[in-house]
Amino acid sequence: MRYPLFTYVIGLEIHIQLKTRSKMFCRCSNDGENQPLNTTICPICLGHPGTLPVMNKQAIKWGMRTALALHCSIPPHSKFDRKNYFYPDLPKGYQISQYDQPIGKSGYLDIQMYGATEGQRPEAHIRINRLHLEEDAAKLVHSPGANASLVDFNRSSTPLMEIVTEPDITSPLEAKTFLQELRLLARSLNVSSADMEKGHLRCDANVSLKFEHAGVAVWTPISEIKNLNSFKAVEKALTYEAQRLYDEWVAGGEVTRRAHKITVGWDDTKECTMLQRSKEEAHDYRYFPEPDLPPLHFSEEEVEIVKKSLPELPIAKRKRLIDQYGITHADATLLVESEGYASFFEKSASELDEWLCSLEACDDAFKTKTYKLLANWFINKLPPALNAYSIALEECKVTPENFGELIALIQDQKINSSAAQVVLEEMVETGAEPKHIMQEKNLEQVSDTSSIESACDTVLAANADAVSNYKAGKTTAIMFLVGQVMKEMKGKAQPEMVKTILEKKLS
Ligand code: ADP
Ligand code: MG
Ligand code: ZN
Repeated sequence: MRYPLFTYVIGLEIHIQLKTRSKMFCRCSNDGENQPLNTTICPICLGHPGTLPVMNKQAIKWGMRTALALHCSIPPHSKFDRKNYFYPDLPKGYQISQYDQPIGKSGYLDIQMYGATEGQRPEAHIRINRLHLEEDAAKLVHSPGANASLVDFNRSSTPLMEIVTEPDITSPLEAKTFLQELRLLARSLNVSSADMEKGHLRCDANVSLKFEHAGVAVWTPISEIKNLNSFKAVEKALTYEAQRLYDEWVAGGEVTRRAHKITVGWDDTKECTMLQRSKEEAHDYRYFPEPDLPPLHFSEEEVEIVKKSLPELPIAKRKRLIDQYGITHADATLLVESEGYASFFEKSASELDEWLCSLEACDDAFKTKTYKLLANWFINKLPPALNAYSIALEECKVTPENFGELIALIQDQKINSSAAQVVLEEMVETGAEPKHIMQEKNLEQVSDTSSIESACDTVLAANADAVSNYKAGKTTAIMFLVGQVMKEMKGKAQPEMVKTILEKKLS
């Protein structure tokens, strides 16, 4: 019997660590992960009785900033609540979180799946249920060999945002793309480094399956996968767990009988999930309003100010770069990856605009070709040149203006691309202007035909074999001859021009 394929129903719960200077409710440094164990601590974040939390205003503002970037509404009233439970990493016996009045509600994040294959959505609109603020717990350190677990309280009370999506995600690829877009968003808002490897961005993924069997709609129960700490793990774990749920249903096993949600963990080495607990009932956390913190109130003006301060968001920037410069989606994605790249590119492009405007004839096609060349040199030629000197883009002496000028020299056929490569390396090393280097190194392209013609004659006379090969129909021999002429001219001719002249001479 053949069973129908299933549809994924996926919802994510994501924690993002805010990179504020101090912790959520005390003045301890928020850099505990880089400090010796148990040194960035105080009575407040250790939960000593009688201490009082003090709200970190920066964390509130950044939470609001992120919520607004996710198109959430900011309710006029918000508050903190105590979520009570016992665990050795939670000295207070409760976590300060937000329960029924989160700082952000009902937003969305649009994503684009680059390279989506058949049957997959190229774009998706993922609704955000809520964004709330809370504090992190301490970290249990299970030292291998030691017959005990130790607690490092440095992480205790680190500010976190929790973002909960609606179950709008329909594939593991979409889940991964959503997280990558969220990471980029957090970085471009400058609120978190959002490094998954460092645990600054953590994800729990909920998955259930939907399909039709013998005319009946089947909904499997939900599995919640905990501890996903890489994009690859998110994709693999969801794929694995969905298949497992499906197989279980096909086998008529537990999945058909169990009505409740289960929690599973992901084993990264074995690449499988394992049952952690079967959730019979929601945890009774006995939430109640945090009595030691005043409720939050936001005026419309306040919200408006934060909204106005938002930078251009990654998805909008990507779209604009594609529209404005005609570059590919892949190139735009790369440029948006870092604020530094996009601004370097755009400054170079504006330098090029000046040159383009000065041209007598310049149509849109030529403009687009120029920007594409710029993107190509920025993405493919600049990084190896920087790597050769172990220099980061931010520290490099190549200004966007000079870089744009170099591209103009290439587009203007003042210099060919191998000579431009030499110029670029010199620019990286000294920061000198491209025109200056070109003249100093005598790399200017020779465009007067008579000197190219005479170089061609010399090469043709000295390479009778290649000439007869070409005449016998081996057209690839022309490339060898072009190479010889380029050598003869010390690389300063334009290969296309050389080829045309050679072909004329050989016809
Ligand atoms: P809980 O109270 O058990 O945490 P929530 O309603 O808060 O449940 O939902 C938690 C997460 O589960 C959300 O990310 C949501 O999108 C997701 N979710 C809800 N329904 C489903 C479903 N049918 N399949 C997969 N995920 C779901
Ligand atoms: Mg939940
Ligand atoms: Zn503290």
